[in-house]
Amino acid sequence: MVQYVSTRGPGPTHNFLDVMMAGMAPDGGLYLPTEWPALNPSLLDHMAGLSYPEIAFHVIRPFVGGTIPDDVLIQILSETYTPDHFDHTAYTPLQQVEPNAWVMELFHGPTYSFKDYALQFLGRLFDYVLEQRGQRITIVGATSGDTGSAAIEACRNCRNIDIFILHPKDRTSEIQRRQMTTVSAPNVFNIALEGTFDDCQGIVKELFADQAFRDDVRLSAVNSINWVRIMAQIVYYAVACVALGAGRRAVSFAVPTGNFGNVYAGYAARRMGLPIRNLVVASNRNDILTRFFETGDMKIEGVMPSLSPSMDIQVSSNFERYLCDLMNRDHQGLSSLMNSFKTQKAFRLPEELMNRARQDFHSYRCSDEDTLAMMKRCHDATGIVIDPHTAIGFHAAQFELEKDPATPMVMLACAHPAKFPDAVRRAIGIDPVMPEKLARVKTRAEQLIVLPNDLDKVRNYIRRTRNA
Ligand SMILES: *Cc1c(COP(=O)(O)O)cnc(C)c1O
Repeated sequence: MVQYVSTRGPGPTHNFLDVMMAGMAPDGGLYLPTEWPALNPSLLDHMAGLSYPEIAFHVIRPFVGGTIPDDVLIQILSETYTPDHFDHTAYTPLQQVEPNAWVMELFHGPTYSFKDYALQFLGRLFDYVLEQRGQRITIVGATSGDTGSAAIEACRNCRNIDIFILHPKDRTSEIQRRQMTTVSAPNVFNIALEGTFDDCQGIVKELFADQAFRDDVRLSAVNSINWVRIMAQIVYYAVACVALGAGRRAVSFAVPTGNFGNVYAGYAARRMGLPIRNLVVASNRNDILTRFFETGDMKIEGVMPSLSPSMDIQVSSNFERYLCDLMNRDHQGLSSLMNSFKTQKAFRLPEELMNRARQDFHSYRCSDEDTLAMMKRCHDATGIVIDPHTAIGFHAAQFELEKDPATPMVMLACAHPAKFPDAVRRAIGIDPVMPEKLARVKTRAEQLIVLPNDLDKVRNYIRRTRNA
């Protein structure tokens, strides 16, 4: 039965539900399964021809370790992955774009980014567990774009969750703001903070550090370090492997990367026995990960804005999970590495570990110019419009296809191009086609409260407003 430990642990083991409810471990680490459950060849054979929620059941079941009855898990999965919430019956359709390359569209959920695939499931699972325990929680988060809307859509129908999302006033794109503020539900609260994204994040951090407030409102988070999000993302890697390689022939993936959550799910899929050859970590001009794989130095530099804002990161929080495995689960060693990273803003790994890391991942960076060029090249060659994040994976995949033309390449399309109309217009000179639901947010009334960049005001607002 799979149990979980903190990357900085090991300490006592925890079960799946506790890990889901906690998000981050109390020691500041991230939770990892004590072992990787195996998807053996006969199970992969069996998966061919199964539906998305059925494959999800086989992938997720061993991680849940009996904490949720099978029939409940099946029920939650079939309520998550339905045509009511996703606008393509294949959920993650594959589009062939080159003789041996496919785009996997992960933008058919309610907010048109790949984050829906995990968050839609996490919201329902959370609500089920809270109902069982007779508890209510308050989720608070900060967003600069995609995460906030995906989290709101995941919680809007949850009976036991209030969600407050802070965004920097006038500093998100209009579409991204409207995707959040036009959701009309009694448990959804948007705060436009008079400040920057860093100010929003700073306030959220302080709220979590305030133990009295935490207990009072039963504060929680659904951020990308929650294990359930990684786990739910493993599913589409399995779906692609079964579709293209029948679960026998190896497949490679190119993944536009920010917090390392998506590509880490690919790594987890490989650890479970899925035949995955290369995992390509694609970064934009904020290339801390690419520099790391090139030099062995993880070194923080300032964040620069780019055409792919969801990848504009300083530190990839989920990378710690991979480091833990790379260091053979030397929890003590990892703890001191992470502590020195916090103070020195840098660490360096020995060459023998880097040699292994370079086998596990290949990494490439992509400038804004190359992003636009790739969007145009894809459109010219195939007629398919891709968003700037997808283009960065596409760009990286070209290098891999040159080196290894025989292995099928899957490029993850992490956002719908209509979410980034300005970049699309610049790249190919036309407006992306708006899905009907996205077009609708343009006319709906917005609901938000503007608050000053003031911890007390935000804290009081949450206390007063939540549905106790
Ligand atoms: C969140 C996001 C990413 C980055 O994914 P990580 O799991 O953080 O690496 C890339 N592209 C888009 C469109 C996103 O929304």
